[in-house]
Amino acid sequence: MPDTTTVIVGAGHCGLAMSFCLAARSIDHVVLERAEVANSWRTQRWDSLRLLTPNWMTRLPGYAYRGGDPDGYLSARQVAAMLEDYAAATAAPVLAGTTVTSVRAAGDGFVVATDQGTWRASAVVLASGAATVPAVPAVASAVPAGIASVTPADYRNPGELPAGGVLVVGASASGIQLADELARSGRPVTLAVGEHVRMPRTYGGRDILWWMEASGLLDQRYDEVDDVVRARNVPSMQLVGSPGRTVDLNALRSGGVRLAGRLAGIQDGAAQFSGSLPNVCALADLKLGRMLDTIDAWAGVAGERFAPTAVCTAPLGLDLRSGEISTIVWATGYRPDLSWLEIPVLDRKGRVVHDGGVTTWPGLYLIGMPFLRRRKSSLIDGAAGDAAELTAHLAGHLDAQAGRRERRAS
Ligand SMILES: Cc1cc2nc3c(=O)[nH]c(=O)nc-3n(C[C@H](O)[C@H](O)[C@H](O)COP(=O)(O)OP(=O)(O)OC[C@H]3O[C@@H](n4cnc5c(N)ncnc54)[C@H](O)[C@@H]3O)c2cc1C
Repeated sequence: MPDTTTVIVGAGHCGLAMSFCLAARSIDHVVLERAEVANSWRTQRWDSLRLLTPNWMTRLPGYAYRGGDPDGYLSARQVAAMLEDYAAATAAPVLAGTTVTSVRAAGDGFVVATDQGTWRASAVVLASGAATVPAVPAVASAVPAGIASVTPADYRNPGELPAGGVLVVGASASGIQLADELARSGRPVTLAVGEHVRMPRTYGGRDILWWMEASGLLDQRYDEVDDVVRARNVPSMQLVGSPGRTVDLNALRSGGVRLAGRLAGIQDGAAQFSGSLPNVCALADLKLGRMLDTIDAWAGVAGERFAPTAVCTAPLGLDLRSGEISTIVWATGYRPDLSWLEIPVLDRKGRVVHDGGVTTWPGLYLIGMPFLRRRKSSLIDGAAGDAAELTAHLAGHLDAQAGRRERRAS
């Protein structure tokens, strides 16, 4: 059984950032990856996807975007190429094609079983992704036969869907981007809208993410916010990686998308939508206004304000057997898959209990989750700070463990 000090599970940007930080402290490690570096960007993104973060924000430890288009947005293929180059440049010890099948505690360390053999390690970093599997609600099982169900992880382009209308469920980043693309391709689109985060692409002539970074919003720490559980469950921002283009509900409605409330159920073949659409839109407008107030207070100038979300009469029901809808896109979020983790660190909802990525089990760490240590933790740009701080903690753990082993031996 090979020994290493630290096993990192997953070679996405988070696993690679951890590898960089461990290497900088000369901590021996391997990165076990079930497929290839940047697997999620190669296999789980639709054809037209571009980052919603501008290129100047594409930063990792020891790496910053130096191309000629700092205000552009990378395609998924470009992200995969960037991560592949980063792994090579940093000589990350990635073992590709190695699926972790279990992580168990053994003595004061861990045994990590894979389909290519078993490793023993003093510490383990879970970097296997927050968005590993689409989270599809139970109501999907009531969809009438004959209607195709797809998720953003398997959707590729409008041409691959059966002809006809599309119901997109969920109005966060993925949902609004797909509703926009499908409507532009000429499909009739209905968008079921629950709680969402409205965001203009630009404000005061600059990308909104520039303001969020400059004013310190993206760097807000997990131990500074009033309710971190709530902060970790906030939906992704309604943004699309297209220079200057805001795709909010007003823009979608102008583009022919029919808005409905949250999908509350499907009964006897009919989709039922909540009547709360005006309320959730008013709340999203209010929160956007508050965020812009924070930015204005930081900048010392009062900026523009955006027209409220216009909510006309929204349908409360939609007969899914009428033939109007041929496909449902479940843009209802994602969840991690840690089904192989055999260490008791999960809460009743199956989420890892952690304090900024330090789990309740000594030597076991987590990275890449929403608001792990900062508001930007789920973004590529959030990995550098999180990985550096987790590595510092992990190094302290290894020192303490070495001290205990020495005392036992003497
Ligand atoms: C649709 C979408 C759009 C996004 N857009 C942006 C954006 O514009 N800007 C931005 O900054 N962020 C964006 N993100 C967020 C974030 O950057 C990505 O989710 C990113 O892929 C997360 O990186 P990660 O390293 O945490 O996980 P992943 O990239 O998912 O990497 C995890 C790796 O672990 C591997 N793995 C999983 N299980 C195992 C196992 N059992 N054994 C071995 N290996 C395993 C996987 O194959 C994968 O390679 C987006 C996310 C999604 C889903």
